Amino acid sequence: MTHILIVGGGVIGLSTAVVLAKEGYEVSLFERDNVGAHASSNNAGLVVPSMYNPYPLSLDFIDLIKKIISPKSPVRISIRKMGCSAIKSIFNARQRLKKSGSWRKLRRLGIFAIEYMEELIKEMDIDVEYSKGEILEVYKSRKLFEEAKWYAKEVEIDGLEIELLTKDEILTIEPSLSKNIIGGLRYVYDGSINPRKYIQGLRILAEKYNVDIHENQEVISIKTDEAVNVKLNNGEKYRGDYVVIATGPWTSSIISKLGINLPIYPARGYVIDIKVDTHILKHQLMLEEIKVVANPYKEIIRLAGVMDFVGFNPKLPKKRIHGILQDVYTYIPKLLGHRIIEIKSAFRPCTPDEIPIIGPIPKNKKVIIAAGHCRFGLTFSALTSYIIKDYLSEEEMPSDMDIFSPTRFLEQHR
Ligand SMILES: Cc1cc2nc3c(=O)[nH]c(=O)nc-3n(C[C@H](O)[C@H](O)[C@H](O)COP(=O)(O)OP(=O)(O)OC[C@H]3O[C@@H](n4cnc5c(N)ncnc54)[C@H](O)[C@@H]3O)c2cc1C
Repeated sequence: MTHILIVGGGVIGLSTAVVLAKEGYEVSLFERDNVGAHASSNNAGLVVPSMYNPYPLSLDFIDLIKKIISPKSPVRISIRKMGCSAIKSIFNARQRLKKSGSWRKLRRLGIFAIEYMEELIKEMDIDVEYSKGEILEVYKSRKLFEEAKWYAKEVEIDGLEIELLTKDEILTIEPSLSKNIIGGLRYVYDGSINPRKYIQGLRILAEKYNVDIHENQEVISIKTDEAVNVKLNNGEKYRGDYVVIATGPWTSSIISKLGINLPIYPARGYVIDIKVDTHILKHQLMLEEIKVVANPYKEIIRLAGVMDFVGFNPKLPKKRIHGILQDVYTYIPKLLGHRIIEIKSAFRPCTPDEIPIIGPIPKNKKVIIAAGHCRFGLTFSALTSYIIKDYLSEEEMPSDMDIFSPTRFLEQHR
């Protein structure tokens, strides 16, 4: 039986383990901490291919710099931590992307992203709080709302449905919102889940399909001959036919051991869980100007968002968190005074062009990368797993999947 080794037990590694084990492969998964310990459990829970639009695609370089150094900006980049060359590479990648429009391909794959995820959810015995068509993106700024209207048309051309709502319509269906909202969008096609429960559901499926899960085991080396060999920090060695590297924001470091240079930067975000006794919100809300999601689960409301490119610093800066909360209260005043039960930070794995890297490395078809999903890892996790399944059946990437190829970065690094 073909043996697949998976490094990393986030949503990408775990869902790939399930899909491959279901297909009849022997699968071993190695996770340094516990499965889903990082961004994969600590995110906003939205499954939103329609929102896929690399940010900030429309800005020029000066605007970009102004935005990232402003203390009010939802995206911050530390020039000291990232270095000018990384910032330049992000900017250049976005400009190339803007010209090519290739990100739209990924958005168009959104229909499959949702279908594949729903297939996995159907098989789960636990309630992962999945809902569809209840996400509202709300606006206070007229300029941004005008852009959103144009954006909605584009998304509909790509086959995903969005509804434009007036202020009155929004306030009727979501009366907890403040009166200074001017309108918004309803994402008809997209969904939401509880990410912690989804990880739990995937884990149960992985066990059902006999995935050999090793937690608290770090892979410290990967070597290839006619097969692949991984070594763990406890000295154990495993040999398999293929290795899938799904180590999220830590991928650059592990892949560099194979002599390959891939840019995947950690982008810190925050989740704030608030205890609520009554149902304050009926919908998942994307508070667009501040890039924060408010997601109502059964027992909590989770706020999640913003992006700080500050390296692997898990800090919870008091001012930043305070600022997020104050901003959120201006959209949802009823949240004020409710008890905060947990605040955490987590790192998104971001490529410069915000398109994930999925596929084999050049010169070795046995080493497959599945990382760099940035703000959309949950959304595209099941799709990624099915792409890898298809790759393994032919040792060839399925047609039209060249947008994910790692070579787009390797060529620039030569
Ligand atoms: C605040 C916030 C909000 C977000 N909201 C959304 C959202 O609404 N929708 C959405 O689609 N996405 C969202 N995301 C993004 C999403 O969470 C990530 O893209 C996704 O979790 C990435 O999954 P991953 O498996 O690639 O990485 P991770 O979850 O980081 O998993 C990688 C795993 O690899 C392990 N690992 C690393 N190195 C090794 C090693 N050497 N050996 C063994 N194991 C190793 C790590 O311990 C880790 O568990 C959000 C992220 C954040 C931070």
